[in-house]
Amino acid sequence: MVTIAEPLIHQYDVPGPRYTSYPPVPAWTAGFPADRWIDALRTVPSGDPFALYAHFPFCATRCLYCGCNAIPTQRRDKVDAYLDDFAHEMALLTDALGWGRPVHQMHWGGGTPNLLTAAQTERALRLLTDAFTFQPGAELSVECDPRVVTDGQLQHLRSLGFSRVSFGVQDLDERVQRSIGRIQPVSMVRQVVDDARRAGFAQINLDLIYGLPHQTRDSVDATIDEVLALDPDRIASFGYAHLPAQRAHQRAIPLAALPGSVDRVALFRHIVDRFTDAGYVWIGFDHFARPNDPLAIAQREGRLHRNFMGYTTETGPHLLGIGMSSISEVNGVFAQNAATLDDWRERVQAGALPLVRGHVLSDDDRLRGGLIKQLLCNLELPLDSVPIELAPALEAVAATASDGLVTVRPDRIIVTELGRYFLRNLCLPFDAYLPPRTSDRVFSRTL
Ligand code: SF4
Repeated sequence: MVTIAEPLIHQYDVPGPRYTSYPPVPAWTAGFPADRWIDALRTVPSGDPFALYAHFPFCATRCLYCGCNAIPTQRRDKVDAYLDDFAHEMALLTDALGWGRPVHQMHWGGGTPNLLTAAQTERALRLLTDAFTFQPGAELSVECDPRVVTDGQLQHLRSLGFSRVSFGVQDLDERVQRSIGRIQPVSMVRQVVDDARRAGFAQINLDLIYGLPHQTRDSVDATIDEVLALDPDRIASFGYAHLPAQRAHQRAIPLAALPGSVDRVALFRHIVDRFTDAGYVWIGFDHFARPNDPLAIAQREGRLHRNFMGYTTETGPHLLGIGMSSISEVNGVFAQNAATLDDWRERVQAGALPLVRGHVLSDDDRLRGGLIKQLLCNLELPLDSVPIELAPALEAVAATASDGLVTVRPDRIIVTELGRYFLRNLCLPFDAYLPPRTSDRVFSRTL
C-alpha cells in the first residue's frame, strides 16, 4: 500500500484539465466557422467508421453535485420537442456526411437517457439507425438513473440492442445522499442491477463519486462493500468537481462538509486499495475493470484510449456528438454544440449545424496531445517520442522522480504507483494552453 505524504498533496493540489481532449475545451475558439467543420465532415473517407455520442439532457430532478449539461423536467412533451430538433440536427449531419456511414460504437448519455418513454427511445434510435449503418457487433451503451429506470425499460433497451449499461450510484450513504440531493437506497440499486442482468445486459458499469460532503473512510467502505457485492464489470470513481462559480446549483452543497484535498486523496487511495484487492485492475486514474474486461485488456496491451467519453477501447479517429452540448472530433477537428437548449434549438431550426466552438489540431497539438495520452493511458513516456523542443517539459516530468512520482530509465519515464495519484499533474508540463494561475478557475483540482 503506497504512502502519500501530506506535503506532496499540498504541492500538487492545483487546478488542471481531465484531458478528455488536448487541447481542453476552454482553449478552443468560440465562434468557430461552421464551414470549417463541414469540410472536416466531408473529407472523412467513406469507409471510416464513427463512434456516436447522443446527449439527452433531461433529468427528473437536479442533483446538487451535477457537473453535466442537464435540464430538470417532469414534462415528456419537452423530450418530444427535443427529439424534433435532434431530427433536425441529424438531417444537417447527413447533408454533410451522406447517409449510411458506418458506426462501430454508440453511447447515450445525459442528463438521463432513460427518462425517455419507450416510444421516444425508439424514435431517437430510429433517427440514428436510419442515418447510419451500424456494423455487426457495434457496441451500444446507455447511462441509466436507478431512481427512474424500470425492469420493463431495461428489457426494452436490451431488445433494441443496448448491451452495456452504466448506473450512477455515486454513494450509498444516506447522509451523503441527502447532502447531494440524490436519494437512492441500496435496495433500489441492487434491484436495478439484478433487473439489468435478467434483461440480458452483458456489461454493467457502476459510477461512484468521491470527495462528496460527509464522506468518510467508513461511509465509503460501506458503499464499496455493496458495490463489490453487485459484481460490476467496470467501476468509475470520479472526484467531485466543486465549481460553484460555473454551476450555481452547487452552492447548495455544504462547503464545510466537503473533504479537503488530504482527505480526498486518502479516500481515493482507499478506493484503489479496496477495488484492486478485490481483483479489479486500476485503469488510468479513475476507472477499475475486471481483468478480462476489454478496458483492462486494452491497458495491458497498450491500446487504451481516452476521448470525450473518458477511458475507452475505441481507437477510431472520428467521434460524432449529437444533441445539445455534445462534443465531436473528426479528422483532427474538434467541435462543441451549443450548451444551452435554446441556443442549440435556434441554430438547428435555422438550418445550421449547432457548433459554438471548435479547434483544428496543429502538429504541435497532436504531438503534445499524444504525449499526454501516453501518460494517461500507458503510464509511461518513451524518451524517443519527445522531440528536443519539448525537452523542458520532459525535464519537468523527470524532476518529479525526486518526489517518487516517476522512475527515469535510459529509454523511458515510467509512472510509479504513487505517481498514478498525480497523473493529471504529470501531464501539465506538456500543456501549452494552461491559463495563468491567477485567472478564473475553469478546471477542477487535479487531486
Ligand atoms: S441525474 Fe446525472 S445528469 Fe441528471 S442532474 Fe443528476 S448528476 Fe446531473
